[in-house]
Amino acid sequence: MRQRKVPLRKCVACQQMMAKKELIRVVKTPDDEILIDLTGKKSGRGAYLCGKLSCFKLAKKSRALDRALKHSVGDQIYDQLEQDFIRVEDEFLAAKEESDDE
Ligand SMILES: [Zn+2]
Repeated sequence: MRQRKVPLRKCVACQQMMAKKELIRVVKTPDDEILIDLTGKKSGRGAYLCGKLSCFKLAKKSRALDRALKHSVGDQIYDQLEQDFIRVEDEFLAAKEESDDE
């Protein structure tokens, strides 16, 4: 069986290369809003994080999102994203399991 090529992306926090579906995308929209994009389809500049809260915390500490998105991300926005991250984590993991099933 031939293996399909999996697109890889780098986690901005721990710098690990991972399959795209293992990562959560954070996007800066054209309106300069910073959001978690579970669909991976929103337009704007994206940054990827492992679907792990520990990686989000690392990104917050090192301000990795500021660099990846080339935009200053305020503490408030990091706090908001962290809450969103916790909220979407289960959904993300569930979706991942489903797609592993194909
Ligand atoms: Zn990571």
